[in-house]
Amino acid sequence: MNKVYLGLGTNMGNRLGYLNRACDILERSEHIFSFNRSDIYETKAWGYTEQPDFLNTCAEIETDLSPQEVLLLCQSIEQKLDRKRTIKWGPRTIDVDVLFFNEMEINEENLKVPHPLIQERGFVLKPMMDLDENIKLRGKTIKEHFSALSDEDKNSIERYETHPHNVFERQKSIKINNVNGEHVAEFGKDTIVIAGPCAIESYEQLMRTAEFVKSRGANILRGGAFKPRTSPKSFSGLKHEGVEILKEVRKKTGMPVITELMDVRDLELIYDVADIIQIGSRNMQNFPLLQEVGKQDKPVMLKRGLSATINEWICSAEYIALEGNEKIIMCERGIRTYNDYTRNTMDLAAIPVIKKETGLPVIADPSHGTGVRYLVEPMACASIACGSDGFMVEVHPKPEEALSDGEQSLTFDMFDDLMKKIKSIESAIKYKKY
Ligand code: PEP
Ligand code: MN
Repeated sequence: MNKVYLGLGTNMGNRLGYLNRACDILERSEHIFSFNRSDIYETKAWGYTEQPDFLNTCAEIETDLSPQEVLLLCQSIEQKLDRKRTIKWGPRTIDVDVLFFNEMEINEENLKVPHPLIQERGFVLKPMMDLDENIKLRGKTIKEHFSALSDEDKNSIERYETHPHNVFERQKSIKINNVNGEHVAEFGKDTIVIAGPCAIESYEQLMRTAEFVKSRGANILRGGAFKPRTSPKSFSGLKHEGVEILKEVRKKTGMPVITELMDVRDLELIYDVADIIQIGSRNMQNFPLLQEVGKQDKPVMLKRGLSATINEWICSAEYIALEGNEKIIMCERGIRTYNDYTRNTMDLAAIPVIKKETGLPVIADPSHGTGVRYLVEPMACASIACGSDGFMVEVHPKPEEALSDGEQSLTFDMFDDLMKKIKSIESAIKYKKY
């Protein structure tokens, strides 16, 4: 059996995701019998400082593969994780190097072991020391090599703290611009209000609603063109016509818009209009759909599944992040319980939990969360009080005539009241962000 040490590094895209994925492939590889990895370390890119910082980790494996076969495995991982994106998304890299192979010295054209630069590279020595600090390299232990580095080099390497679900990097804010590229709002920083009808029904209906909610301080307009409906006989959205209306209203009002993507085949269509792509509750575990929105660069709002546990919901966000898109906004929209009074039960505790576990922005949807108009305001207020980054509410000029979700849609007056109340709640509670 061969004992082999590998060095893994990345500085593009979802760095943690790539490291974790590479380690995952190694760990599950048929010829790898034991797998152990170091902590992750972050190093400032010096020299070419315009580069993003690097994340590095080392792995210790036991394998029956030959040195050349290990090299091939490393190269196949690099290839697998270095794909070109179809929609406005560049390439990314992960490097997997063979550092040590037993005590062998290999000096082949394509493979030099021990890796020639180990003793100068703190970002390799440091994680290697987690695995075994007494490994000998050119007459000294790696610990001794590390001590010999300059203070500047030593201090440039920081242990990288991750969230428990560590595909997500440190808490990030997500900036939203309007159609003219001007900054409108920042998830994770501002209190975001998304408002609009459940479904786009006509140009007039959407335009009137947009102008009103904008005048009262909403940051983002919502409206579904493709509607998931329980019964196939219910109104399921204006589809392409709805997208055209949304495009027009977005342009006229300058509001950023969010709309639901139900089918991978409609991605290009929705990508063209949406500032945020919504993945609805019913599709929270549509894994190919999650992967597709993970490959593009627009923010994605992931609604919690109808009966999803928090862990399942986080796993779904991981599906998106692992494809490279970390601009994910989580939306608590209520779950099924034995409650027979409200449409769903708002799980407000999920909001601080998601923040703590993932660091992603979270908003509440009290419209679907309760299904009852008069409960929308108290639940929106409660969500802000428990640390949500905002909320999404359904608003309709004439809720009694709405083609979907009229019972839970706010009237203009109710939305006006809500926005006044939110201001006072916001100033009263400056909630600790996790
Ligand atoms: C919606 O927000 O338009 C919607 C359909 O909600 P959900 O997916 O949460 O049921
Ligand atoms: Mn709805």
